[in-house]
Amino acid sequence: MAKSDSPRVVIIGAGFGGLRAARALAHLPFNVTLIDRNNYHTFLPLLYQVAAAELEPEEIIYPVRSILRPLPNVSFLMAEVSRIDFGRRVAETNATPVSYDYLIVAPGSTTNFFGLQGAEHAYPLKSLDEAIRLRNQILCCFERAAVLSDPEQRRKALSFVIVGGGPTGVEFAGALAELLRGPLRKDYSKLGLRDSKVILLEAAETLLGGLPRRLAVYALDRLCRMGVDVRLNAAVSRIEADAVHLKDGTEVPAETVVWTAGVRGERSAAAWGLPIDRSGRVPVEPTLQLSGHPEVYVVGDMARLEQDGRPLPMVAPVAMQQATAAAYNIRRHASGHPLMPFRFRDPGMMATIGRNAAVAHFAGLAITGFPAWVTWLGAHLIKLIGFRNRLIVLTNWAWDYFLYERAVRLILPTASCREPGRIAD
Ligand SMILES: Cc1cc2nc3c(=O)[nH]c(=O)nc-3n(C[C@H](O)[C@H](O)[C@H](O)COP(=O)(O)OP(=O)(O)OC[C@H]3O[C@@H](n4cnc5c(N)ncnc54)[C@H](O)[C@@H]3O)c2cc1C
Repeated sequence: MAKSDSPRVVIIGAGFGGLRAARALAHLPFNVTLIDRNNYHTFLPLLYQVAAAELEPEEIIYPVRSILRPLPNVSFLMAEVSRIDFGRRVAETNATPVSYDYLIVAPGSTTNFFGLQGAEHAYPLKSLDEAIRLRNQILCCFERAAVLSDPEQRRKALSFVIVGGGPTGVEFAGALAELLRGPLRKDYSKLGLRDSKVILLEAAETLLGGLPRRLAVYALDRLCRMGVDVRLNAAVSRIEADAVHLKDGTEVPAETVVWTAGVRGERSAAAWGLPIDRSGRVPVEPTLQLSGHPEVYVVGDMARLEQDGRPLPMVAPVAMQQATAAAYNIRRHASGHPLMPFRFRDPGMMATIGRNAAVAHFAGLAITGFPAWVTWLGAHLIKLIGFRNRLIVLTNWAWDYFLYERAVRLILPTASCREPGRIAD
């Protein structure tokens, strides 16, 4: 059990990595403080369903204090970390400074526009407020289109471009196509379905790079059958308020451009004095320690570590396994044992495309269609925090599945429609 003079561990970020680290240090002789700028944890893999009016925001988030309640030696501080004084071992925040003996840095990542011209016109999909803003924008476009008499303007308002054919882009394209072809077609029956379009742009020659080719081909085929205009080898050169321009000179008219084509380490880390590479991530030792600061561990999207010659991907299993390993190494360090290098065990990858359609790659298996879709649903329900959230999400999914409806087509007052609030490079 922790005493008042037990070593202090500060964890920055209550995401997948930070929460897992807090749990791994629970009931051990450490005084743990978990810091996050929000008082909730966000289940990012279902963020696109908030943007596609499938789920309410509160169904994919959970109060951090509720999660920590059973952990007696872990306390929570809602604050923005502004600076780390590595010499004095203090994390400075906008609320109060917090001293540490060990620090676990897990602030996640943010959208990477790679310096793209006109990035301020794009809608990122990386946080809860961005998802709500995007949902507002989509629904506002339909409201505006309902009163536009010029067919050209109406087509632009109802054209939705998604940049990036990775899992998030594919999942969002499928969910948006189903929203447009189903509930919104019924709501705006006078608009005519022909005017609305979902266009998915991918710079590479396949979707879902990194997955077996058979799965990428399946995803492409399903999206095309759902009416998504998928364009491969389509690299974006700039974005304007009402169009996307491709490197080959093509112009794609659209008022809404969703950017899912890149992530980089959370921006604030550079201001904290951490060394960052070109992808905004912090290179770490195999033990996950920061070079020159053995008391500092970096985990999750923020950490850059190579395995078998390639950087580990920015996905939740990496963050959680690294958090467990960092907590374990802190225990070993505190008891004078040598530290263990981290090795990632890949549990596989999944992406859903739409009703009864998904792809999954795990344990050497590559599965598609209904079995993959059911696996995806089950895995996401289990991982979602909170029984109430699971029940409501399951109800919403069943409602959507059986009635071809979306229960949450609301334009919330939190953000205005034409204010994408984007973070450009
Ligand atoms: C739309 C989307 C879909 C995804 N889908 C999947 C998927 O299907 N499968 C998968 O494995 N991965 C998926 N990912 C990636 C996965 O979510 C990340 O890899 C994972 O969240 C990384 O965990 P983390 O702990 O490093 O950071 P996060 O989970 O992002 O947590 C970081 C936390 O740090 C806090 N924070 C940041 N800066 C500060 C600060 N200055 N002060 C205080 N607090 C701060 C943030 O508020 C946040 O709570 C998805 C990501 C997105 C955006």
